[in-house]
Amino acid sequence: MSKNIQEKIDSFNQSVISNSRINCIVENLSNTALEKLNNFTDSQKLGNLYGKTIGIKDNINIKGVKMSCGSHILNNYSAPYSATVVERIENDGGLIVCTTNMDEFAMGSSTEYSIHGPTKNIFGDDVVAGGSSGGSAVAVASGLVDVALGSDTGGSVRQPASFCGIYGLKPTYGRVSRYGLTAFASSFDQIGIFSKSIEDMVDLYRSISGFDLNDSTSSNISVDNFSYDDDNVQKLKIGLPFNIQNQENINNEVVDYYLSSIDFLKNKGFEIVEFDMESLKYAVSVYYVLSTAEAASNLSRFDGIRYGFSNRKKDFESIYFDTKTEGFGEEVKRRIILGTYVLSSGYYDQFYSKAQKVRKIIKDEIESCFKEVDLLFLPTTPELPYSINEKKGDPLSMYLGDSFTVPMNLSGIPAINVPMGKSKSGLPIGMQFSSNRFNENKLFSICSFLQNHNKVTV
Ligand code: GLN
Repeated sequence: MSKNIQEKIDSFNQSVISNSRINCIVENLSNTALEKLNNFTDSQKLGNLYGKTIGIKDNINIKGVKMSCGSHILNNYSAPYSATVVERIENDGGLIVCTTNMDEFAMGSSTEYSIHGPTKNIFGDDVVAGGSSGGSAVAVASGLVDVALGSDTGGSVRQPASFCGIYGLKPTYGRVSRYGLTAFASSFDQIGIFSKSIEDMVDLYRSISGFDLNDSTSSNISVDNFSYDDDNVQKLKIGLPFNIQNQENINNEVVDYYLSSIDFLKNKGFEIVEFDMESLKYAVSVYYVLSTAEAASNLSRFDGIRYGFSNRKKDFESIYFDTKTEGFGEEVKRRIILGTYVLSSGYYDQFYSKAQKVRKIIKDEIESCFKEVDLLFLPTTPELPYSINEKKGDPLSMYLGDSFTVPMNLSGIPAINVPMGKSKSGLPIGMQFSSNRFNENKLFSICSFLQNHNKVTV
């Protein structure tokens, strides 16, 4: 085994102890990773992830490892099999050294709704890490691991990446297998990547992408190699979805940074096209109707019989009742109740079915923009990283923070957070590029361009 890798794991173990207050790790798997490393085959040693340390969000199954999804209900659950992404990482020589903290069942934007307690941002102990994949974001931002996986249903990779000042990619829906990812809202969920460089991002993306027989929604469109073409990058046309200055509840520093980034891109020769996408103002409402409906259905399996602890001496109804009452936290309960309501007879047409129709309108409007441009550009979030406890008691204001990220999940397109700016108080400001389905390479191109022009602040 190479000395460098041993040193990396030793320093990981030391940092886990010295940085324990940031609370980004749930399980330390470095011993198992070392054992696996000692038994690596020649092909694993030649893999493009060989020796890279990787964190995995606590809702992705790793065989034999505890997976809690940040919930009390799964406190004794060990994964009986590994997710496809985990197998692919290990086949390519990656070292999975930890699982990472998250909001319960990936519902949230701050990693405060976790049974393991909140994850702290490296930009301040009283600052939220973003969420729901806040543990993965902080593990990468703090240098504890090289790269990490999260899941993005409505922004849970891009928003914590923005709050922590690193890259965060949500690939196209269907690009990365969801087999072994605990379902939240299946028509939105996608596994995504955190990294400090585009090179690391591309390596991990290549390993985990591509068709999987075990996920019927995975696509068999081939994954093209990425190579950066400095001569042609400026040919990418960039669209602005709407005038964000008309948006309510948006931080002025975010607006200023967005406008100055547009000027920078114009000065560098990029063609900018302005749109006025009316339908996007309904994106948050549509997302919360549809995602809660899907969540209510997906989470019904946590009933104390199929999954979750139970006192089996009681009758069925009491088992269900006690398991769910004790096992789920307040935000998960809120979503199950909301989702059940929008699906109930009498309200189904008014909420669920209407939201499906608006989802289609949003998708069509986004697709029509990509007939004219290659990329869409928006801030990742309308707000700066906020304080722990600031929004926990105010779910609506937390939901409104998702307004720039959910359109990409509603339409299935890929999008990336680019760490570009800093606020006056030194907090990270992230910008977001999205592209048409299966055009991740365009995202890597624009990010490489920005990296080469020192516009990226990792
Ligand atoms: N913040 C969003 C929510 O709470 C997104 C969550 C996610 O992407 N998993 O639903």
